[in-house]
Amino acid sequence: MAMKDFSIEGIQQKIERFDIDTTSDEAGYVIESADGIARVHGLPHVENGEMVEFPNNIFGLVFNLEKDEVICAILERHTAVREGSWVKRTRRVMDIGVGDALLGRVIDPIGNPLDEKGVIHFAAHYPVERMSPGVIDRQPVRVPLQTGYKIVDSLVPIGRGQRELIIGDRQTGKTTLAIDTIINQKNTGVLSVYVAIGQKQATVVKLVAELSRHNVLANTVIVNAPASSPAITQYLAPYVGCAIAEYFMCEKKRDTLVIYDDLSKHAAAYRNISLLMRRPPGREAFPGDVFYLHSRLLERAAKLSNELGGGSMTALPIVETQENDISAYIPTNVISITDGQIFLEADIFNGGIRPAVNAGISVSRVGGSAQKKAMRQVSGTLRIDLAQFREKEAFSMFSSDLDEETKMQLAKGRLMVELLKQNKACPMEFADQVLILYAGTHGLIMEIPLERIAEFEKGFLAAFEKRYASMRSEIAEKGALDTALEAKLRAFIKK
Ligand code: ATP
Ligand code: MG
Repeated sequence: MAMKDFSIEGIQQKIERFDIDTTSDEAGYVIESADGIARVHGLPHVENGEMVEFPNNIFGLVFNLEKDEVICAILERHTAVREGSWVKRTRRVMDIGVGDALLGRVIDPIGNPLDEKGVIHFAAHYPVERMSPGVIDRQPVRVPLQTGYKIVDSLVPIGRGQRELIIGDRQTGKTTLAIDTIINQKNTGVLSVYVAIGQKQATVVKLVAELSRHNVLANTVIVNAPASSPAITQYLAPYVGCAIAEYFMCEKKRDTLVIYDDLSKHAAAYRNISLLMRRPPGREAFPGDVFYLHSRLLERAAKLSNELGGGSMTALPIVETQENDISAYIPTNVISITDGQIFLEADIFNGGIRPAVNAGISVSRVGGSAQKKAMRQVSGTLRIDLAQFREKEAFSMFSSDLDEETKMQLAKGRLMVELLKQNKACPMEFADQVLILYAGTHGLIMEIPLERIAEFEKGFLAAFEKRYASMRSEIAEKGALDTALEAKLRAFIKK
């Protein structure tokens, strides 16, 4: 054993090296806790958006910093947070576990599994809120994201990295359009995230079963914040879904599709929280920053540059309107943030036309450059045909002697409306869409009675597949119709 050094110098050295390992926590206490909101005294240096910890492993999120108090939303078991409980800073912002293990799973916005498939082993943690990629980090939208619906892929094409709003009244087929788009990604390598905000549990259960039946659940993550969950989790859900898609886009360089169903309920949840925090209400009682709420979410959709791996996030937010009023506050906000909208109309839906897309005011501002040439070739006149039809149809009801041209336009319009109908969960491949639209827009099938169009479509595509499978794959590969191909196609349809 070494001799102890009791010399003056030795002791001095010991004093200089002396160090106790200490940390200090900034702590405060709860003044008031009600409705999932806690007012806290203390925490002088806490930051906005920081997580704070309450006893029993309960966490909260800092929303308001006021002169003498901090206001937090409690994430879980908020009734367990009592007046006088201690509160600690965590110095962390909120994050979510991510990884391949999430595929095929249903989780809540905190990351807890909601299905019976056991614990999820995360590969990493991603911040829930994050800056969107800058201009240099992006590239233009060029690759299509097919929905499988003829009317959407031809008239309002969506590109990978685009934000396209699905908007319409209750029960007009918004969710169905979004879910069928996920189903159509089965063989495209696109991974999907579906965020359910404020929906009934039964709806989500049905939808999970639907995805599983079509064998796409394994490529999908579902984030569920049902109507019965606290407003704060409904508020967080889309950011969490976005962070999960961001992980696959950035780390795995994958193409992703994320659906926010719906942002009207999201805005309402945020309004609840804000009113409980006594923030001043503005238009329609929403707080002033509700625009920023959605813009910072949707800006995170992107097509990344090749240097960053070229992954993408396509966002399909859904907004519910009242009585087709797209000029209400939330609809106008989200319309101005997105790159276009698909407007589903109740009158069209009730008229038996599904999907109930209003061709007049549905647009896609960037998807056109992602559309394949063949589709542009066959759908060029479609929008005009449909618009002229709608206009003339109205006044043709009052007059009996129509000129030939008008009669022709009406007949073609009726045919196209019939041809664009499509049942749910029946996505159609690109080449098939091109073939059938070619027949319609070039007026080659005008003799077929309207009630037999669906039957014709089935027979036509089956016959084509049987006899001209090579031509069909040529269209799919080339993505364009050349004159030789067109001549063959014409001859076949005539027959
Ligand atoms: P909500 O406002 O309740 O969320 P929604 O707008 O999401 O409704 P959906 O739930 O998608 O509407 O559809 C309403 C009903 O219409 C459903 O029963 C659905 O099966 C049916 N439907 C939607 N699209 C089609 C379609 N293309 N073909 C046949 N049925 C459809
Ligand atoms: Mg819905």
